[in-house]
Amino acid sequence: MALIVQKFGGTSVGTVEKIKNVASRVTATKQAGNDVVVVLSAMSGETNRLVGLAKEAGASSGREYDVVLSTGEQVSIGLLSIILQGMGHEALSMLGSRVPIRTNAHFSAAKIENIGKENILNACKDGKIVVVPGFQGVDAQGNTTTLGRGGSDTTAVALAAALEADLCEIYTDVEGVFTTDPSICSDARKMEKISYDEMLEMASLGAKVLQTRSVQFARRFNVPLMVRSSFTETIGTLVCKEDEDMERAAVSGVTYNKKEAKISVVRVPDRPGVAVKLFKPLSEAGINVDMIVQNISHEGHTDMTFTVTDDDYEEAFALVKETADALEAHDVIADQEIAKLSIVGAGMKTHAGVATKMFETLSEEGINVQMISTSEIKVSVVIDEKYTELAVRVLHDAFGLADSDVKEEEY
Ligand code: ASP
Ligand code: MG
Repeated sequence: MALIVQKFGGTSVGTVEKIKNVASRVTATKQAGNDVVVVLSAMSGETNRLVGLAKEAGASSGREYDVVLSTGEQVSIGLLSIILQGMGHEALSMLGSRVPIRTNAHFSAAKIENIGKENILNACKDGKIVVVPGFQGVDAQGNTTTLGRGGSDTTAVALAAALEADLCEIYTDVEGVFTTDPSICSDARKMEKISYDEMLEMASLGAKVLQTRSVQFARRFNVPLMVRSSFTETIGTLVCKEDEDMERAAVSGVTYNKKEAKISVVRVPDRPGVAVKLFKPLSEAGINVDMIVQNISHEGHTDMTFTVTDDDYEEAFALVKETADALEAHDVIADQEIAKLSIVGAGMKTHAGVATKMFETLSEEGINVQMISTSEIKVSVVIDEKYTELAVRVLHDAFGLADSDVKEEEY
């Protein structure tokens, strides 16, 4: 007998009919002899609707905003519990404050500090299926908090860690983590396994299957995650600690992100403190800078280029322009029509020539590389956005990620 945390995303609980489907999944797991703790998202579109209502009423953050936003999950857990009870099962919905899922008081972006496991474990012992809302917590004063958009994944993983669950299953509308976006590459392949580190790179690069924070949490507490579809029986992708198998292939996946913009500060004086002056206003404004490239200096001047998300672009540009003018830089230029393209793989640590192969593949298609950055298990480049799809396809091919390639290797 195992303890399994099952999390269902918004599309999986989008209608009462779909929640019934969730109920049969949950009861099947329970009837197989496991303890089951269920975590739900709000019904699809609901959180966006609540954000709209709160805005209309005049709030985009703060305590009352969280009171409004947290209700979406409350509806879905109530509905599932009613359905489970109607099927003759003992089910109990348990709000964040009741569990309790303690967070700090940072409304709308609260961090989980600790989770009480007694209430849930006692209910499990009594044979109950416990149904917990994702995304919501409670601060030390008893105020309702929310964890930030997509936070239900983090609730599920944190609960699994606290309860020392054997597995955390994340049910969603895709069958797992793919070698690349299947809508671009028809021969993209579902991965059987992926390491936490690879998943973190993929998640932060735009493969939006899991909230990045939830993967960090899973890595820290070593919670095995299974990402799978709630609409098929197919086994999904296991996100777990790196093992030897994973090193066989140099590259596991190709990802892209079109929602980035590039800003260059041209001919800025090259002296200590310039980078701080340029980037500090951005960090103070909460803007995340992604890639940064500084050219070698010429006659005491250098060029500095970096990328930010499209959402932050305008604010970032204005802030940097102000500093650049004060520093008497020659110019600030920007390009929103760029995409970041990345190859990710734990095997890169032990394979040489991966980056070279990437550059070669792109150059054969006449695709210019504008910026490069690397980590131990990732190579990212910035290219002209219009070549994104082509670049993804040729790289997926070059690194042998397609279905047929793998089969060939096996025989
Ligand atoms: N309902 C919340 C959102 O849409 C949390 C979640 O579903 O993960 O962001
Ligand atoms: Mg989600």
